[in-house]
Amino acid sequence: MLFDRWYRSLIARWPLRTNKQPSICNAWRRQGAFLQHVIDGIEDPILVIDLEQQVQTMNRAARELVAKPKTPKTLACYQLLYGYDQPCDANHMPCPYQQVLTTEQSCKVLHKLTAPDGSEHTYEIAASPLRNDANQIIGVIETRRDITTHLSLAEELRASELNILRLSQYDLLTSLPNRLLFADRISQAIECAREQEAMVAVLIVDIDDFKYINDSFDHNDGDQIIKDAAKRLQDYLEAQETVARLGGDEFGIISAPFHEIEQAALIARRILHRFETPFELHEHRIVLGASVGISLYPMHGTGTDDLLRNADAALYQAKNQGGKNYQYYTEDLTTKSIDRVLLESNLHRALEQGEFVLHYQPQLDLLSNALSGLEALVRWQHPQMGMISPLRFIPLAEESGMITELGAWVLREACRQMQTWRSNEQFPPTATMSVNVSARQFDRTNLTDTVQQILTDTGLPAELLELEITESTVMRSPEGSVQILHQLRELGIRISIDDFGTGYSSLSHLKRLPLTKLKIDRSFVSDIPADVNDVAITRAIIALARNLSLEVLAEGVETLEQKNFLLREGCHTVQGFLFAKPMPAAECEQYIRGLNSPAA
Ligand code: C2E
Ligand code: MG
Ligand code: MG
Repeated sequence: MLFDRWYRSLIARWPLRTNKQPSICNAWRRQGAFLQHVIDGIEDPILVIDLEQQVQTMNRAARELVAKPKTPKTLACYQLLYGYDQPCDANHMPCPYQQVLTTEQSCKVLHKLTAPDGSEHTYEIAASPLRNDANQIIGVIETRRDITTHLSLAEELRASELNILRLSQYDLLTSLPNRLLFADRISQAIECAREQEAMVAVLIVDIDDFKYINDSFDHNDGDQIIKDAAKRLQDYLEAQETVARLGGDEFGIISAPFHEIEQAALIARRILHRFETPFELHEHRIVLGASVGISLYPMHGTGTDDLLRNADAALYQAKNQGGKNYQYYTEDLTTKSIDRVLLESNLHRALEQGEFVLHYQPQLDLLSNALSGLEALVRWQHPQMGMISPLRFIPLAEESGMITELGAWVLREACRQMQTWRSNEQFPPTATMSVNVSARQFDRTNLTDTVQQILTDTGLPAELLELEITESTVMRSPEGSVQILHQLRELGIRISIDDFGTGYSSLSHLKRLPLTKLKIDRSFVSDIPADVNDVAITRAIIALARNLSLEVLAEGVETLEQKNFLLREGCHTVQGFLFAKPMPAAECEQYIRGLNSPAA
């Protein structure tokens, strides 16, 4: 039935205020036709249902739903919309028509249906009462909208919003909270501790020697270790404690509120204990250890930033102590870490600006009193801070990876200088140049290429170059070391183990290394002949060198007693302040000239 016909039938049934004047009837007809056009223009089906639940009128979209033309008088809404024989209720779908009649209010319901092609559709039915002038309900107006696409779009949007939230707050690799969420949790923890008048600890955990994993294995292996570390920390976690990944190999932990100050150390010890078990990578078992920095609320800060910064400074201190330990924040740490940031940021520029210099420390043969070699020791001549010791900046250069460039510069400069000195006939022709090689330089497989290139460029004979590698470097990666040392040895260069006696190397392992010299560490030399233990160790190292047919040199010789003891025991190559401190090239040249003069 068309709108205007139904409209007219309504008018006929209801006593409207009309005097049936023909002109008014025409106006109604026109208005009815106009309204029919309007509702036909709407894409969603619209039905007007009377109190017998029969569809009295509808728009074009609704008419198109009727498969076969049927007389609207016999068509109920459920028949028209869904082809049902019974009202929606009977088909377990809410009936909007009944709801409107019961509540006399508009309502919206959802209908889920499977279309003949098997696709699932969700419809939103909006129903509202149709009232006459006397405000009596004379029917129900229903519209139906297919919201399937809308719902799936909304679902997609919700999923992507959730994903964005997850990405912005969680770490992808470990699924732990990231730094952002960690900071948020710290402020919650502070709030909680304030209410309970308790303390809270913020701990930053950093895996020791993680760079070694990234340098020696591939990145996936590094990720594997990070995941394993994350799991260890997570497993350890107790209720109310938070673990987060702050980036790289750094994790953060927030304790539950506590009242006994020892609680923080207890957590730190538990973490360190967790890292004592070796990590498994392929067939290797790798012991890495961890360092922990602790800051406490309220003693070390009452805000998130303070606590994070101070835990970081404490971590730096723990690293400086050699790792595998925990440190609490103390006031003077901040100055130290500011210092560190300053140095780190200046390091790159320093190489470009030529701020590094080499000093040379003579090594002497006590039997002939002649120069047996020189050790090149780098210094940083900082324009504002003055001369900076390698002990301060080498670890930073190692951490930042800059050691590769710096190490290559040291090597080239030392070889160049040695070649210049050698052009002087007075210079002892067999004297060697020793250059320190740090752990990270050693890890790099192209060290051999770099060394070879520098020897070619400078013209220094390979047998006059000695690389000093610390015992701990060699022991950290015994298999890799053997290979690289052999490559270096094949070039003809000499290899000495620096700081020997501090790194617990095993005799069986030492035998496999192509070494030329052991350098007895200064810590043993400094207390001889007074300290019986140091005497015993020094003697043992000298005997070991003899058995392995290696040369032996004692470093840090400061007194005549030490010199005489070493001579007696058969170690006659020495280096130390008793003879000469490390000096700039020009001074060193004078010193060597003095050695060669007849008066010496
Ligand atoms: P090292 O290789 O064991 O060098 C010996 C250190 O002991 C030097 O300190 C030297 O000045 C000091 N020394 C020598 N004789 C005596 C003595 O009789 N008494 C005392 N108290 N000290 C003595 P320096 O120059 O501060 O170097 C410290 C460390 O820095 C070196 O220890 C070495 O491990 C590292 N280093 C220095 N230059 C380089 C470099 O170019 N590359 C790398 N990777 N490390 C370097
Ligand atoms: Mg050395
Ligand atoms: Mg040394």
